[in-house]
Amino acid sequence: MKILVINCGSSSIKYQLLDADSENVLAKGLLERIGISGSKLTHKKGNEKFEFDKDISDHTQGLAMIIDALRDEKTGVLRNVAEIEAVGHRVVHGGERFASSVLLDDEVLREVEANNFLAPLHNPANIEGIIAAKKILPTVPHVGVFDTAFHQSMSEVSYLYALPYALYRKYRVRRYGFHGTSHRYVAERAARLLGKPLKELKIITAHIGNGASVTAVKFGRSVDTSMGFTPLEGLVMGTRSGDLDPAIIPFLQEQEGLSAGEVNSLLNKESGMLGLTDRQFSDMRDIEVRASEGEPICKRAHDVYEYRLAKYIGAYAAAMNGVDAIVFTAGVGENSPYLRANVVNGYLGYLGATLDVEKNNCRGCEIIITTPDSRVSVMVIPTNEELVIARDTREIVSKGLKELKLWED
Ligand code: AMP
Repeated sequence: MKILVINCGSSSIKYQLLDADSENVLAKGLLERIGISGSKLTHKKGNEKFEFDKDISDHTQGLAMIIDALRDEKTGVLRNVAEIEAVGHRVVHGGERFASSVLLDDEVLREVEANNFLAPLHNPANIEGIIAAKKILPTVPHVGVFDTAFHQSMSEVSYLYALPYALYRKYRVRRYGFHGTSHRYVAERAARLLGKPLKELKIITAHIGNGASVTAVKFGRSVDTSMGFTPLEGLVMGTRSGDLDPAIIPFLQEQEGLSAGEVNSLLNKESGMLGLTDRQFSDMRDIEVRASEGEPICKRAHDVYEYRLAKYIGAYAAAMNGVDAIVFTAGVGENSPYLRANVVNGYLGYLGATLDVEKNNCRGCEIIITTPDSRVSVMVIPTNEELVIARDTREIVSKGLKELKLWED
């Protein structure tokens, strides 16, 4: 079964065409600058890469261009568009309604839209993509896979904030968590790598990319996660602050004369590693090179970054009353032996973690990087959110389901 997986941002479409039976990626790409002049499609078929420059005004036109690339004689992998049997969509926010992946019929789409107020920057773009894809591929099933769904297993002990409860009732202000598809995938892979059932393991998954979050996965369920009501909470990220004293917000509004929107932008776009390095760097590669050479500003920023991550690992080991495995994934987690070594050597000794230096030097491999006698296994697992979306889509379509069940009650 050939499945098209798409992830729509406000001005971009990321896609993969997969054979869901063999799980092979047939083609993939990224269309950028939709609705802005200078749109560009980068399309890959195996090792061949093609680039197309053509102004694209909206997601419908963008998807049509992608479909053309997929069936073009030179760049394509399809003889006929009818070979695409289903479309899987990444959707950022499923609110409390969606605890798993779901068939996107009109009624469900309205329910997804009802969550837009919770993710006003992301969900409308996802929905635009779904509507465009349904227009272009009207006869195939479309499935939504939510970033928040995996975390719906959290109990209210972890998802409630100590705010007036009326605000939860009125606006559903609570912890939702994000990157759920990634945390779910790497937790499952970790169990495979350990050769033990997921249901018997306590795993801490660290998705460390430009955005970053940590999740406590106890016996296969997310029991806590560092991102909260929005993806701003938790770890230090590329440009996001992560945790801070909430009283800093009104303080800055008063002292700097900032509006709520301006503070929000400062915390999301000018903070994190960019803020800590005095607006110099947000890309970890730039920071890491300098930090490892002892350059003081980058070293200090990296120290804060590592420390925050180590604190969360400690908190989640406590939350689960133990931990069997700690997983590093995403851009930084998969590719940075420096970060992993500093966290394991600097902070995880009390958990009985001993780093295997040679294994840790690996980038982008699936590997256990602690020694066999370590009490806790630390591992690197490349994430694969598209594969999870394709698998869920395949399962829903082939079994004729409306909604998946991620876990048994
Ligand atoms: P993601 O959001 O998962 O795509 O991750 C993006 C982040 O991964 C950026 O901050 C990159 O600098 C970082 N990254 C990618 N490759 C490396 C690397 N080799 N070493 C350190 N960080 C990396």
